[in-house]
Amino acid sequence: MTTTTAGPTVPALLRAIADTGRDRTRGGYSRHLFSDAEMDLREWFLAEATARGLETEIDRNANLWAWWRPGGAAAQERAIVTGSHLDSVPGGGAFDGPLGVVSALATVDLLRAAGLQPRRPLGIVVFAEEEGGRFGVACLGSRLLTGTTTPDAALALTDPDGNTLAESAARVGVDATRFGADPDRLDRIACFVELHVEQGRGLIDLGQPIALASSVLAHGRWHLRFTGEGNHAGATPMDSRHDPLLPAAQTVLAARRAAAAGESLRATVGRLRPHPGGTNVIASAVDLWMDARGPDAPVTQAMVAEIAAAAHEAAAAEGCRVEIREESASGAVHFDLALRDQLHSALTTPAALAGTGATGLPVLATGAGHDAAILGAAPGTRRIPTAMLFVRNPTGVSHSPAEFAEDDDCERGGTALATVLTQLLS
Ligand SMILES: [Zn+2]
Repeated sequence: MTTTTAGPTVPALLRAIADTGRDRTRGGYSRHLFSDAEMDLREWFLAEATARGLETEIDRNANLWAWWRPGGAAAQERAIVTGSHLDSVPGGGAFDGPLGVVSALATVDLLRAAGLQPRRPLGIVVFAEEEGGRFGVACLGSRLLTGTTTPDAALALTDPDGNTLAESAARVGVDATRFGADPDRLDRIACFVELHVEQGRGLIDLGQPIALASSVLAHGRWHLRFTGEGNHAGATPMDSRHDPLLPAAQTVLAARRAAAAGESLRATVGRLRPHPGGTNVIASAVDLWMDARGPDAPVTQAMVAEIAAAAHEAAAAEGCRVEIREESASGAVHFDLALRDQLHSALTTPAALAGTGATGLPVLATGAGHDAAILGAAPGTRRIPTAMLFVRNPTGVSHSPAEFAEDDDCERGGTALATVLTQLLS
């Protein structure tokens, strides 16, 4: 589309929040749900939306919404929604989440500058706790919205410091007793398009700046607690120990072996905590969290069962015990084919490709979970047709300070989003 830019560009909007939530210890950003940094970002988003004349609201699950409502009968039409999230993993990158949110804001400026008169409402959403970086369940805001997670299950979650979600919400003035499915809100949405930095090397390898998503791997998180016998590191002979760190270590290796043996399987132990955690202390217990993914739910569960069997065997050999609990699990999601085809057509016209540095529009599968996948796989009438746009990440690295996107590619992403929203709103 031909436009004159009326507002800050996508890179300029990203720079406006570049100092919020920097993690001095890990590097990158730690922007966890209801932390000072995340609350600052929420406030920033609401101010940016208000400055654009959008109506803002916070839904019953702490997700933020901003609405551009056309006048007359068009206001009653079902909405087109875009957006992403502003929270991060511990020590995450600057683009995972925020790129989709700032692109949505910049798109409103682009559409207005182009003189678009929307024939239905446009919504921008910022989902809460997408990363599960504080309470352990990824996409918590969209899971609650769709009823994929119950309020009781959510309220029982605790952060690493032992604060419950309910207490943490109350501390920032959010009433967690209102958490729960919101079918009326979902009924008012025609489709959801999420723009996101790519979290792999697909676009680099293809030499293209933008892609559409085809599917998301099945994925879930498991908590394993190994218990043994805490004791003195010097006074306890090696043959009379029940050290739970040994079966934990063997489980990490078993996870690598099981995932490496299959097609499109992933198993990761990124968090492991020995108790009490002293250099001269044999641990009495070890908490280990495993993220596992695969092409579909049965294949993923079979891999987890294999790793669990190895964990039990290793625990028994050391005279320890292990308890395994599934924290979350989602099946593979294939994004809506009709919507994807519509976006593909809109983005591959000669006019849309001109000046973008793209010669085509790849369609890529991803191993990363997203709110778009939760909405696209919600049960029954709560399901919403969803699509995703990926922006090239030249490092191929994500969930790390090394995650990156060039300014030009960020702008190309914003332009692509404006192109598809123009079509969906017209
Ligand atoms: Zn993300």
